[in-house]
Amino acid sequence: MKYIIGSRGSRLALIQTKYVQEKLAKAYPEHTFEIQIIKTKGDKIQNKPLDKIGGKGLFVKEIEEKIISGEIHMGVHSMKDMPPTPAKGLVFTKVWKREDPRDVLILRTAKHLSELREGAVIATGSKRRAFQLLKLRPDLQIINIRGNVDTRLRKMEEQQLDGIVLAAAGLKRLGMEDVITQYLAPEDMISAPAQGALALEVREDQKELQKMLDVFCDEETMNEVCAERNFLEQMGGSCHTPAGARCQKTDQGYELYAMFGNEDGSKQAYTKVYGTCPEILAQTAVKNIKKQLAGIVYLIGAGPGDPGLITVKGKEILKKADCVIYDRLIPQELLDETKEGCEHIYVGKENHHHTMKQEQINELLAQKALQYDIVVRLKGGDPFVFGRGGEEAIYLADHGIYCEVVPGISSCIAAAELAGIPVTHRGISKGFRVVTAHDRRNQLSDFNFASMAKSEETLVFLMGLSKLEEITMNLLKNGMDANTPVAVVSSAASTKQQTCEATLNTIHEKVKQEKLSSPAVIVVGDVVKLQKQIQKPEDTTCHLVTKIGDQPSKLAQILKDHGCKVKELQTGEISYRYDRISKEELAKVTYLIFTSRYGVHGFMKQMKSSNLDLRDLFDKKIVVVGKKTKDVLMQYGIIADLMPEEAGEINLSELMKQEVDAKDVVWYCKGISGGEKLKKALTPICQVTEKVMYENNRKILSEIPEMKDIRSVSFTCASSARRFFDQIGEEKQQWIENIPCISIGEKTTKQLREIGVRHILESKDTTYVSMFYKIKESML
Ligand code: SAH
Repeated sequence: MKYIIGSRGSRLALIQTKYVQEKLAKAYPEHTFEIQIIKTKGDKIQNKPLDKIGGKGLFVKEIEEKIISGEIHMGVHSMKDMPPTPAKGLVFTKVWKREDPRDVLILRTAKHLSELREGAVIATGSKRRAFQLLKLRPDLQIINIRGNVDTRLRKMEEQQLDGIVLAAAGLKRLGMEDVITQYLAPEDMISAPAQGALALEVREDQKELQKMLDVFCDEETMNEVCAERNFLEQMGGSCHTPAGARCQKTDQGYELYAMFGNEDGSKQAYTKVYGTCPEILAQTAVKNIKKQLAGIVYLIGAGPGDPGLITVKGKEILKKADCVIYDRLIPQELLDETKEGCEHIYVGKENHHHTMKQEQINELLAQKALQYDIVVRLKGGDPFVFGRGGEEAIYLADHGIYCEVVPGISSCIAAAELAGIPVTHRGISKGFRVVTAHDRRNQLSDFNFASMAKSEETLVFLMGLSKLEEITMNLLKNGMDANTPVAVVSSAASTKQQTCEATLNTIHEKVKQEKLSSPAVIVVGDVVKLQKQIQKPEDTTCHLVTKIGDQPSKLAQILKDHGCKVKELQTGEISYRYDRISKEELAKVTYLIFTSRYGVHGFMKQMKSSNLDLRDLFDKKIVVVGKKTKDVLMQYGIIADLMPEEAGEINLSELMKQEVDAKDVVWYCKGISGGEKLKKALTPICQVTEKVMYENNRKILSEIPEMKDIRSVSFTCASSARRFFDQIGEEKQQWIENIPCISIGEKTTKQLREIGVRHILESKDTTYVSMFYKIKESML
């Protein structure tokens, strides 16, 4: 019979395959063995680091496909390039004796690593090799390299590198042993798992061929490779993670050297273990390495929705976290508490739509614990109340990762409580029972409604809104009084909190009418009646946002997104000037200054009506007063060159004073009023012209809001503040004394002070988000 062996086309791959071919041909003269060259994706892309194009699996996919389709009978690969398990329907046959598994140094300028000059340049494509070299010689400069053996040797000469690292196996197979300068012992350099071994891959059902190949099995290599590959598989990680494992026979059994690190090398661990059973060797090495590497995973309860309801301990840990893996129901503001560079990973589960399966979340936690020191798993409410936190804690413990739980305030108590319902109350309810309406099979039929219906305790259902009708029906069917009070509380502890109260037989209809949405808890029992005594009246107040122009206010939108009630009030109208810009004059300009978005819009309108475009601005330096103006410019495809670190006219003046000199021609694009300071600062230094782009005209307020309904007023410019207080009439003094005013920056603050406003909160910078934070602060 004729067997076809698939191989990559590189010289090394072909030598390996020919070796297999010759062995087989000699042992089985009754058959013929032919080689077919197959080009893989990894072969086609030569110029990028492997981990950037998808890792090692790239060199095998095409070959595996051809074995599955029957086009070829087997594939020969380097075992170290193979994923832990072969593609479905394929198997690896038993391992043959491997070539030398060591890594070697090829040095151009020295005879030994220790003789290399300080700061010598060594090239390697592998982080595993790089980290270990740096461990031996921290002074080395390691650079990246790709390509086959010949290419790398050539690059070493061309780029005058001091040396490169390669695998002994490849060089020996190529007959190039003589280029090797130094063999690296496993104490110094732990090779890639299974280095030097071949992987022979065939179809699972080709038993005859498997038997033919297994004749050449080498038990020693088999055990070594088994320990090495088991280590790699159990450590997980991706093709980006540097991992090494090298097992070798000793007189007593086997010794396994192993190493593992994170991508940037800030965490690395090394171990050496002895034993006789390869699986146990791998397990022990994994345990040792994880013990050295793993950070702590904190399972933190974020509370029911208000960012203020996390525990002090939880928040302190959150601030230190390197990575936060969070759920859907956590208050998003908590993520702002994390330090710069902290990785945020969303793994939330929406109804019927899981971003990530629980098993994947468990794995992710373990993986991130190896990468970082402090990993936070942030969950809504309390982590152990229907949060699957218990499962995560068990998984981490099983994987040798230390895990600590920080309890949280659970919605099963807090949601009712915040709606004015105590889950227990002397004389009314001696206890409460918390039930999920979502079991593993998502079926309510398994619930013991008979016992619940007779219960004298308060019943609290979580995850039950979509099953409300079924729940109430089942309780009624089992004899619960139809007049039992029931409350549904949705989005508790947030500004969107809503409560709907009725009885067991009417609640379903009422919730439907009032359109309550998840998350919600259902509370059943007489304690619900207490709500009337405890609940505070509904909040009808809102935040007033003044604005210029009739466009919807972005600040108002942010507030609405956070569940705040908002009223927008227009205090000004923008009218643009359509002056002509002369092409010749513009050509002389060296700097353009914009101090508001209207200045930008106005300038662009004038450009357009003067038949000019962006090309006429190519040599200008563009200066903006702050981030908002910068963002608006960006909409026109222009990136500002200069912006003061902190927004404001004075800072801008200081910045410009250092920038310009007498030769500079500056156009200051502005509104009709304001900007005197900047003009004054620049006039003696350069040729500055004020270009009026727009007028901000006063608008009569469409209504005077009632002070008692207002929680705060926000001003995004001084003119708004002036106009607002000029028009609010008799109550002015009361407004001045009682209402917190949020100011966008120093000019507005100054104006508010002149008016006499008592409570002024100035935004940290001139962004809407930072104004929003000040508004929130005003509510505390
Ligand atoms: N571990 C969480 C519960 C997770 S199960 C805790 O201890 O609170 C998710 C369910 O919790 C939701 O379906 C809903 O029933 C309830 N829930 C969570 N947050 C809520 C909130 N802010 N308002 C009302 N119910 C909430």
